[in-house]
Amino acid sequence: MKICSVCKREAGGFAFIPPPLRASYLANRKMMRYFCSMNCQKIFSKIYKKNNMIDLTKNEKEAIESALKPVGEYVAEIGMDRPLSSYSREEVLCLIEVALSAYFDFMQGKESETEMSEVPC
Ligand SMILES: [Zn+2]
Repeated sequence: MKICSVCKREAGGFAFIPPPLRASYLANRKMMRYFCSMNCQKIFSKIYKKNNMIDLTKNEKEAIESALKPVGEYVAEIGMDRPLSSYSREEVLCLIEVALSAYFDFMQGKESETEMSEVPC
């Protein structure tokens, strides 16, 4: 008999296996957790996700912050008062590219451009 990993009642067909493991491999079955209900499964998965969240490193946080200025400059260029919902597809893609470029430039130790000389897209 399988026991619920949360409330210790008899389990009833609900299970969890930590990704990227697959339940189809018999060797992974011992890693499985069983639950009596979807409710207990949700409780377990919420705790599992909370405990397995990856915190950003100091460098990653700084890289995200380094994107503030170029993103701000781009938004100012295309119209500060425009809601995001009015952006065209190309403008959204360009915004993402500006943010990612700044992030990866920082992570690769490149000098951040003090002035955005030209929009990359
Ligand atoms: Zn339970």
